[in-house]
Amino acid sequence: MNQTTIQSPARTTNAVEIHELQKHYVLKSETVRALRGVSFDVPQGDYVAIMGPSGSGKSTLLNLLGCLDQPTSGSFMLGDDNVALMTDNERSEIRSRRIGFVFQSYNLIQQLTVVENIGVPLYYQGRNDRESVKRCIDLAKLVGLGERLDHRPNQLSGGQQQRVAIARSLVNDPYFILADEATGNLDSVTTEEILRMFQRLNEEGRTIIMVTHEDEVSVHAKRIIRLKDGLIQSDIRSENRVVYDLSKPVERRVED
Ligand code: ADP
Repeated sequence: MNQTTIQSPARTTNAVEIHELQKHYVLKSETVRALRGVSFDVPQGDYVAIMGPSGSGKSTLLNLLGCLDQPTSGSFMLGDDNVALMTDNERSEIRSRRIGFVFQSYNLIQQLTVVENIGVPLYYQGRNDRESVKRCIDLAKLVGLGERLDHRPNQLSGGQQQRVAIARSLVNDPYFILADEATGNLDSVTTEEILRMFQRLNEEGRTIIMVTHEDEVSVHAKRIIRLKDGLIQSDIRSENRVVYDLSKPVERRVED
């Protein structure tokens, strides 16, 4: 795999600071208190897994962290910006510029090539210059797709598509990567490839927050936050974190 490195600039602030975050959904007959006062910081360079049983508030928290929704109360700082006070437009701006999303279903545009898909967030900012294209090519190389720059998603395996999505998530140099069950559609070998990539990006200084229900995935994070009934049940730095030896390849490759 190509080892091109795109350095993340040093930042001193926390990537995320949330304090007493609450989210209530008001229905006809009742109010669902999906988050009931959640507080935690994510320092730059952290690697966090958010876990919890169904209904515990993971998706609600993910939507708030991703600036897709607004909290009912509490504060949410993204870098130096207080997201809880933002208008919808400001939130969508910060979402597209400052958060790198990686979804279970990749969310690639079928008509676009690898390089074009990586560049979608830049395109929305009107950036289509030579420098932007070069950045997309460098990112494609970073995720090991330097030989497939002009492929379209249907010409790629699931793991390769997820690598495109990871490259796309990096294109704006985000405060953090927000991964939602990113390996949920992948077999175990490909899952390992993606987790190795997250580990490498994290070792290079990238902040990663992932929602997962799989212990085999969360064991690779530096820290596990467990939610229960809309509250943090535990927030623990992993003592037995499983770290890959990145100098050795995955045992069996199903692609490339
Ligand atoms: P998880 O992702 O851990 O399964 P969710 O964040 O999806 O949990 O849900 C937390 C609680 O909030 C659940 O009781 C769920 O039914 C409720 N909930 C989530 N989204 C909505 C919504 N849009 N409207 C009403 N209730 C919701």
